[in-house]
Amino acid sequence: MPNVARFYRVGDPVKVEDNPLPRIDPDEILLKIRAASVCHSDVHVVSGVIPVNGPVVLGHEIAGDIEQLGENVENIKKGDRAIVHFVTPCGDCNFCLTGNTNVCKNINSLPMYGFSADGGYAQYMKVNYKRLVRLPSDLPYEFGSTLCCAGVTAMHAVKSAGKINLGDIIAVYGTGGVGMYILQIAKLCGATTAIAVGRTEDKLQMAQQSFGADAAVNLTKEKLTDGIKRITGGKGVNAVFDFVVNNESIENSTKILANTGRLILVGIGREPVLMNPKRMTFKEASVVGSSVGSKEELQLLVDLASSGRLKGVANSKHRLNEVNEVLTALKEGKVLGRAYFDPFLE
Ligand SMILES: [Zn+2]
Ligand SMILES: [Zn+2]
Repeated sequence: MPNVARFYRVGDPVKVEDNPLPRIDPDEILLKIRAASVCHSDVHVVSGVIPVNGPVVLGHEIAGDIEQLGENVENIKKGDRAIVHFVTPCGDCNFCLTGNTNVCKNINSLPMYGFSADGGYAQYMKVNYKRLVRLPSDLPYEFGSTLCCAGVTAMHAVKSAGKINLGDIIAVYGTGGVGMYILQIAKLCGATTAIAVGRTEDKLQMAQQSFGADAAVNLTKEKLTDGIKRITGGKGVNAVFDFVVNNESIENSTKILANTGRLILVGIGREPVLMNPKRMTFKEASVVGSSVGSKEELQLLVDLASSGRLKGVANSKHRLNEVNEVLTALKEGKVLGRAYFDPFLE
């Protein structure tokens, strides 16, 4: 029987177990998973920061081949390569109707693959065909899978929430997989200087050598304010993308903002944070949250990747039965780029 990696409850290890082949509804397809990459949200599920009712198969960055089709499925055929937009906007609420499908009012009551519905840490999964985006043959599966959350979150944060424009100077506070895409997409949107901020030299090197960062600040060696002053000549940054979201990162991020700058919260902070309101008022700075992204934004990423304008972040392949080790490594900040599972790897 095919394998899956299933979350049961907070604090318990994720369990790799046999699972019968899912039976598809008329609107669903059966996807044979070729790559499922590992997001920090999976760590948040296991530790309880993101509440999920188990048991459920984790994995929301998913790429594979269409294996079976339900009778209502259109525009896709057996053998096609596809990736999954893991949230299901209702299409009818006022947010969906105004183009803000990522914050659809009904998003928590409709299938969210890898959270409320079985996801891609599996050899096979069922998916509503409307959630699929076709993956061109020139893009590796593991590149495609990382676009499903890391990529689309970065795209939405840069374009919609951050409104990055020609000439902007930006900083990315935290250099995981999403951060590597933010650097690249911000440069595509016209940012002149993209700065990686973190504590791990390997990740900062990687950001500069492979993903478009023009400079880096290593917080173990330099204060952020000093680093940003050195790099920008005292101008500060027009936008900072915060993946850490704690008192220290908010204090640091708001200090380096130029007047009218934007602080974009992308990470999922667990605790309330303090903010200096006077600083924000006098700078006319704004704070904005950014949550995942739309299917259209996912399609745009595929187009950019396919035309060679985007570089993939997946770089370490694992067996499904290594799931707990991989989640622990991610939690401890030891994953460089993005880890992914090939569920058929023996
Ligand atoms: Zn994710
Ligand atoms: Zn809606």
